[in-house]
Amino acid sequence: MKNKVLDYLIVGQGVAGSCFALKLFNQNKTFQIIDSNQNKASSVAVGIYNPVVLKRFSLIWKAEQQLQWMFHYFSDFEKLLGENFIEKLPTYRILKSEDEIQTWKKKSDLPVLENFLSKEIQTSKNQNIHAPLGFSEVKHTGRIQLEKCMRLFREFLIQKNNYRHEDFDYSELKIQSDKIIYKGIEARRIVFCEGYKLLENPYFNYLPVIGVKGEVLEIETESEIPKAIWKAHNFLMPENSKTALTASTYDREDMTYEPTENGRKQMQKYLEEIYTGNYKITDQKAGIRPTVVDRRPILGSHPAHQNLFVLNGMGTRGTLLAPQMTEYLYEHIENSAKIDKEADVRRFDKFWD
Ligand SMILES: Cc1cc2nc3c(=O)[nH]c(=O)nc-3n(C[C@H](O)[C@H](O)[C@H](O)COP(=O)(O)OP(=O)(O)OC[C@H]3O[C@@H](n4cnc5c(N)ncnc54)[C@H](O)[C@@H]3O)c2cc1C
Repeated sequence: MKNKVLDYLIVGQGVAGSCFALKLFNQNKTFQIIDSNQNKASSVAVGIYNPVVLKRFSLIWKAEQQLQWMFHYFSDFEKLLGENFIEKLPTYRILKSEDEIQTWKKKSDLPVLENFLSKEIQTSKNQNIHAPLGFSEVKHTGRIQLEKCMRLFREFLIQKNNYRHEDFDYSELKIQSDKIIYKGIEARRIVFCEGYKLLENPYFNYLPVIGVKGEVLEIETESEIPKAIWKAHNFLMPENSKTALTASTYDREDMTYEPTENGRKQMQKYLEEIYTGNYKITDQKAGIRPTVVDRRPILGSHPAHQNLFVLNGMGTRGTLLAPQMTEYLYEHIENSAKIDKEADVRRFDKFWD
């Protein structure tokens, strides 16, 4: 019997591959996802979403659109999987100097930021939160429980026979003008969503994806931390009355997936600048973020093979970026929409030969 040609094959089930698969599912497209379920940055990520760059107090690229698409996609995941993943939480930026307070006041008066930065400087009422000069609120922030969402979506895909647990073997991929064939699977298109492992993909490894390793600490605290995302140099976010997460490190040298002593020490140092109570470390994890030299995602087709696509470069903000970038790519493939120049893979054609 002749194999049915699927609409899509996806490689990778991190937040990028999952958002794309969700879109296909909602559009009644046929697809298979191949995933090794290893070293998934999306399962290490804290999942914080925050439309403001907190070093410079400026809005991120396409902030409002990204937020809208993020709520749209993760509400759909919630409905499909019957669990909550979205936690709306204020971010409290701890102010470190008089200069910073003056900058904050100026920035919060700007029309573009007034919806995001509170004008009020608050003082900490919690004896274990160290904020002698006060803190102020960043609005429209929170956390997506990415690990739980990816895990439950994977179980859902397995149940629907949409998921194959294996390492994709690039040498088995046969490309024809109207379809691709991979170990007996035929599909009209293939979308690569491998995160940092893109660099092992012989078709797309010309792209300037740079790994940035990050680590996260889970701690048990002696006293309850007020429910918010506390931000000084690093983040501190309580998960419940006893445990909290603190992150992160940014290492461009060490590309291993193991947590390190250096990482732990660095995170403890920054944690103790925010939290002065006793705590014990209960877990430490590491992952590699797929970042791009120009800090924009990468999406679109291969320069020579029109049925090979890439969806990558989510960097430090996969939670916010993956939903909107999925929309761009899907609309491009299905409805010939133009991809935003800043995210289009075409900007790197000069590196391909
Ligand atoms: C410590 C840390 C903290 C972070 N915190 C946040 C945060 O708070 N908020 C935020 O928005 N972002 C955060 N990030 C960034 C976020 O994790 C990434 O932007 C995002 O997870 C990247 O998603 P992805 O789907 O591109 O890649 P990944 O999540 O890495 O998924 C790639 C998938 O592809 C699979 N794969 C790869 N190659 C193959 C192959 N050949 N065959 C089969 N399967 C393959 C892998 O097994 C994996 O499942 C953090 C990252 C780290 C490391």
